[in-house]
Amino acid sequence: RFITLEGGEAVGKSTNVGFVVSWLEAQGIEVVKTREPGGTPRAEAIRTLLLDPDPREALDVDAELLLVFAARAQHLAKVIRPALESGKWVVCDRFTDATFAYQGGGRGIDWQRISELERFVQRGLTPDLTLLLDMAPEAARERLASRLMARNERLDRFEQEQAAFFADVRRGYLTRAHEAPERFAIVDATPSLDVVQARLAAVLAERVGS
Ligand code: C5P
Repeated sequence: RFITLEGGEAVGKSTNVGFVVSWLEAQGIEVVKTREPGGTPRAEAIRTLLLDPDPREALDVDAELLLVFAARAQHLAKVIRPALESGKWVVCDRFTDATFAYQGGGRGIDWQRISELERFVQRGLTPDLTLLLDMAPEAARERLASRLMARNERLDRFEQEQAAFFADVRRGYLTRAHEAPERFAIVDATPSLDVVQARLAAVLAERVGS
């Protein structure tokens, strides 16, 4: 089975991907943990291109969309499909819902065009369960700011975006969730980590069976 984790910036996605994988492994399930954009060496090279904040040449929005799907095609061919075919479970940090949220909601690319690429690249393969970590954009930006200050890191292209962009991304995710309510579980990412993880465990127990 194929499980994805989604959410905007600083909602605690990476930490909770680890939690979901550990939870499944504790049930004796063999899990492949991966992420997008990326997940294979060539797809990770595309990720580097996508996230490059180089101000000398802005990335065209259509080029960005196609690169995201090029990375996804490679990831599906080399990692996701083989793992699922061998009976393993796949837990992926972001997938196509992120494309609808960021390139659709955030960048304003037509929903229909993204759907066409989704059909073309995925040929019917969609996640069985998507855990959406949801948070108000203001709270997420506060978390992001303090995290980056603590680490003294440079912001990537997407993290440099303004508050309106984060709100658009969130709206994109919620629209996607509304379109496929049976696939999505929306988890409020605002409370403390143990509260969020208790909720994730409850969703997993219900959807996966313990
Ligand atoms: O998941 P993670 O935070 O590592 O993603 C890296 C960056 O790529 C994020 O800033 C995310 O917003 C961005 N991204 C994007 N479009 C996608 C997937 C990720 O803009 N389809």
